Formats: sequence, structure tokens, C-alpha cells
Amino acid sequence: MTAPTPLIAGNWKMNGLAASLDEAKAIAAGLAGAPARVALCPPAVLLHRMAEALAGSRVLVGGQDHRAEAAGAFTGDISAEMLADAGATLTILGHSERRAGHGETDATVAAKVGAALRAGLEPIVCVGETLEERKAGDALAVVTGQVRGSLPAELAGRPFSVAYEPVWAIGTGLTPTTPEIEEVHRAIRATLVGQFGEAGRAVPILYGGSVKPSNAAEILHVDEVGGALVGGASLKADDFLGIVRAL
Ligand code: PEP
Repeated sequence: MTAPTPLIAGNWKMNGLAASLDEAKAIAAGLAGAPARVALCPPAVLLHRMAEALAGSRVLVGGQDHRAEAAGAFTGDISAEMLADAGATLTILGHSERRAGHGETDATVAAKVGAALRAGLEPIVCVGETLEERKAGDALAVVTGQVRGSLPAELAGRPFSVAYEPVWAIGTGLTPTTPEIEEVHRAIRATLVGQFGEAGRAVPILYGGSVKPSNAAEILHVDEVGGALVGGASLKADDFLGIVRAL
């Protein structure tokens, strides 16, 4: 089976105002020939404007989480349908900032994945261990358990990716060693094949956690790393393009 096309996705989190669309346009303008799919996931209120600004470019636009319900009395929340309606084609789900900060369980994430599929969105499902779990020798068990619990069977035959994001590496400047990354990615691959058969080999497994231009080449060339989910370094076009060009 051929290797999946790498995906480099930027997660802007709660950052960005209308003026930040210039960075997104600069990213689109600088992509020529990059051998990857590239996505930006801005705050929901910027999504429609970003999708319009990037129309016709190679940059895909995605959301950052949504509810599992399609509509209803959920003040302040948004649905997968709303993201798709605003121009999103992907969505980040199960980010550790949602799991830890909003009490999301694997079951919550799996329900949201189902909603994303019904809305036609391609999920990027995040998993990752805390520092305590790694120190206790539980990283592989935690991560593979999250993969099994967060990926519903209805993903079979649908495009999606998994992002391995060690919680302790997010926004800290710390990264695992490349053998540590490879070990976890191999375990995720084996779990995906267990769940989805040979089709599990075509699922990109992204690495996320303090990826920047200076470490991107080393990380992106680790076996079984199929791209990156990038937080802070996706906010500046030069940094994000530096990561894309490291492929
Ligand atoms: C993230 O939160 O998805 C992330 C990878 O953040 P950062 O790149 O800033 O560590």
C-alpha cells in the first residue's frame, strides 16, 4: 500500500483576528510544489473569512472542535454542520486542551467524530499521554487506548488522520526523542490496522507538540510520521512554511 500523503495542519487555537488572514494568505502564496496537504484551523469566527480568502489555493480550512449534536439549545457552542457550512473541510477533535479542559472522554470524542463524518468533515483525532503517564511507563497503553476509544467503526472507508501529541510537549518547547516518537507511531499504526485492517496503513499519523522549523525535518522524517499538527508555529507564515518545506 502506498504511503499516505503527508498532512501539515496548523491549529491557531484562540489566536487570530481579521488582520491575521494576511498570514494565511502568505502561507497559501508560499506553498508552491510542497509535497503535502496543508490545512489551517482558525477560531470559528474567522473560518468563513479564511475560507473565502484562501479559495482557489491549496490550503484546506478546518475547525477546532464542535459538538456531537447537529443543532439545538447549546448556548455558545457550534456544530460540525456549521463548520462545514462556513467552509471547513476538516476538524480537529480530541485535542488535549479539550480532553483536560472540558472533560472530554474517548466516548465524547468518538461521538464528535461521528458528527464530523455526517457533516462531511475529515477528522484529525488527537491522542497523547501526560508526563506522569510517560514517567510511569504507560505512554503506549494510554495512547493506544485513546485510539481504540476515540475512533468509531464508522470511520472505515472515510478519510481521517490521527495526531500523536504528547501533552507535555504542547506549547512547552519540549519534544520526545525521535525513537520515542517512532515507538508511539508504530504502536498507533498497529492499533489502526487492528481496527480497520489494511486500510489502517493509509491513515496519516501526525506528530504534534512544539514542532518548529528547526526540528521539523528531523521529526517529519521519522518512520510512520505522516505529517504534523502545529500550534504556535502555525501563526506566522515564515515559521509554518519552514515546517512544510522540511518535508
Ligand atoms: C497543539 O496544540 O496542537 C500543538 C501542537 O501546539 P504547539 O505546536 O504550540 O506545541
